[in-house]
Amino acid sequence: MKGRYKEEMAELQTSGAWRSIRGLVHEGKYVTEGGVRMLNLSSNDYLGIMSRPDMLEAFYAQLGGEDALLGSSSSRLLTGNCAAYERLEHRLAQLFGREAALIYNSGYHLNTGVLPALSDEHTLVVADRLVHASIIDGIRLSGRPFERFRHNDLEHLERIIRKKQDAYARIIVMVESLYSMDGDLADLRGLCALKERYPIIELYVDEAHAIGVRGGTGLGMVEETGTTRQIDYIVGTFGKAIGSMGAYIVCDADVRELLVNRSRSLIFSTALPPVSVAWTDFVMSRIAAMTAERARLAAVSAILRKAIADAGGEMPSESHIVPFMVGENAPCIELAESLRRAGFFALPIRHPTVPEHTARIRFSLSSAIDEEEVCRLINLLPL
Ligand SMILES: *Cc1c(COP(=O)(O)O)cnc(C)c1O
Repeated sequence: MKGRYKEEMAELQTSGAWRSIRGLVHEGKYVTEGGVRMLNLSSNDYLGIMSRPDMLEAFYAQLGGEDALLGSSSSRLLTGNCAAYERLEHRLAQLFGREAALIYNSGYHLNTGVLPALSDEHTLVVADRLVHASIIDGIRLSGRPFERFRHNDLEHLERIIRKKQDAYARIIVMVESLYSMDGDLADLRGLCALKERYPIIELYVDEAHAIGVRGGTGLGMVEETGTTRQIDYIVGTFGKAIGSMGAYIVCDADVRELLVNRSRSLIFSTALPPVSVAWTDFVMSRIAAMTAERARLAAVSAILRKAIADAGGEMPSESHIVPFMVGENAPCIELAESLRRAGFFALPIRHPTVPEHTARIRFSLSSAIDEEEVCRLINLLPL
């Protein structure tokens, strides 16, 4: 019935929470909107893989057989499985030095599918206050009791563990390794030390923004911090730096078996197209060698962070995701507008996505961006 949602939509618009889908044209590191071409500073394509026609051409040149299929026609539990899946899972288990890996259709499928399958009535879930919406939805779907600890505050986490440990058989602690709004890092070594003191803990780490980008061979913060063997569930997405689609969990073999039997988002959804999995495998086979890209990304990120820190005192972020704090929503939107006019596309992040008075422009850099471009951007910021 027409008009049914009018009031609800009006409310969204007046509260400033209205969202819409933009009409964008993509060209490597640039986006064009309404005829204006801008450098994309809001992309998750952190290694610039979308600006690499050479990689795509090399992929297509060797593509053939079943790998070329654009659809899988069913779940992997029925007839949708194919060699590319097993190749990629084998590669991941080997790269991480762990027993097993399992591929999901997306990070959202994974985070909503894993916890409901692994947790039981004796499980407590404790998550960092800033974890991604897909993790929250997974916790809700699991129906398990749930506590949140203050962002990156391991003392608060420990207090919760101490208070609750006698009432549960397992406590699953869920964090991201690199947080997408502030670009800051979880203390993975500290979490592993806590797990040693409280063996009731199991660690679930989402590397969505770190895979490909961090670690000597691009395997994320677990590699950078040397915690690959202590983290029970290492998860991440292929949709960001890997330039593909899908997600992985790296874990023990029995965990994988249980997920294959119990995880509804894996069992009841058509598997990814083989071509997409083959592309992920192709990129993952080259990710270790992309050290120059990682170094360039680290270098341009350091320039932007330092310029902001020099002006404001405090170092923003510890990564390639760099927030520029503005404070209130209106001037933040204005700054984003003026950057767009100057050819830089960066989205304003406002309350209620972030706490009140912390509206910011979120710069998410890529190795395709060069020093000259970052310097031009810095000159446009009200520092
Ligand atoms: C983007 C993201 C996801 C979702 O991954 P998709 O593959 O895009 O569904 C999950 N967790 C975190 C932390 C993310 O940033």
